[in-house]
Amino acid sequence: MTSVAGTHRDVFGSAPEGVWSAPGRVNLIGEHTDYNGGLALPIALPQRTTAACSARTDDLLRLHSVQAGETVEVPLGDVGPGSPEGWTAYVAGVLWALREDGLPVRGLDVTVDSEVPVGAGLSSSAALECAVGAAASDLFGLGLLGDDPARARLAEACVRAENDVAGAATGGMDQSAALLCREGEALLLDCRDGATEHIPFDLSAAGHVLLVTDTRAAHELTDGQYEQRRRACERAASALGVGTLREVDPDGLDAALARLEDDELRRRTRHVVTEIARVEQAVAALRGGELDEVGRLFRASHVSLRDDYEVSCAELDVSVEAAVGAGALGARMTGGGFGGSSIALVPEGSAEAAERAVREAFAERGWSAPSCFAVTAGPPARRDA
Ligand code: ADP
Ligand code: MG
Repeated sequence: MTSVAGTHRDVFGSAPEGVWSAPGRVNLIGEHTDYNGGLALPIALPQRTTAACSARTDDLLRLHSVQAGETVEVPLGDVGPGSPEGWTAYVAGVLWALREDGLPVRGLDVTVDSEVPVGAGLSSSAALECAVGAAASDLFGLGLLGDDPARARLAEACVRAENDVAGAATGGMDQSAALLCREGEALLLDCRDGATEHIPFDLSAAGHVLLVTDTRAAHELTDGQYEQRRRACERAASALGVGTLREVDPDGLDAALARLEDDELRRRTRHVVTEIARVEQAVAALRGGELDEVGRLFRASHVSLRDDYEVSCAELDVSVEAAVGAGALGARMTGGGFGGSSIALVPEGSAEAAERAVREAFAERGWSAPSCFAVTAGPPARRDA
């Protein structure tokens, strides 16, 4: 029996009907583009959130998290926008969204355990939602794990759980990554129409590694910054007479920027439009095996996020500079920013040096030690047992 199944039996008194899991993610490139109808390129992480679950015949949710260290009961009928609060919103919200979708869900006993660091920008929230969503799909016969369109529908329910019930504005990349990514491949996600394409991503065959640095920097007072960026993009799109910044032609960017009076809107727009173009370039470079070019695009993305979009922070900048200084082809912050994690594309022979350089740079500044680990592209949400 898996350890989460054992915990489930200890907490709820009987073995779970099954065990499901879903991965965290890192976005290779295409940051703050999802809510602009743009492109993103995530991979699923090997680190996963596991949910041991049993269906109930009533409408009660009994939820236990090893990380939260508590068991909480929530009647499904009490779930809605803003309720419940805290971590259970991410779980209860999925059941609520599926029921809102007209699907026949009932209560569940759920035990979750996670290897995805929580709040590190590696999407523990979507891993949690999607692991529970996968369980609900199987236990209530919803068929939402069958093919990519079904998985996309489940991803949408998980997005509504996070947006509406947990009250966290997210653009949808995280849930798509957890449900649609494939092992050894990156997911090219077109957020304008939800179209996806699987792009081969096997760095080890090319003698390289992807090094993740969880800076462990959590910045307070950044609440609202994400919303402000979204609003700025909406204002820029409306001033330019387009639905989203995706519609701005990169070749006509200078002319578009000249039409924006506000310098902040110009910089936000420049980031989004050039970042979407960089995703296309990165896909072409990956397909062509041109990792130097991928590295160059990582560096350009970071500069754009740091200077034009202003969502980086000292810890992210230092981790990126240290990795590049120690031989990485490129590095960039990944995820929403203001803390969280960075990624570096490093030749295998320089991986140790890059990790050491990041650790030393943090130690020199008196910052607490970051967590560094190499990752490969893992499988999506699935039933494990
Ligand atoms: P990220 O998704 O980058 O890790 P978020 O702030 O989006 O950061 O999500 C973190 C939140 O998700 C936590 O505060 C908690 O409410 C919830 N969460 C994620 N994983 C777990 C878990 N294993 N147990 C309980 N809550 C979790
Ligand atoms: Mg999250």
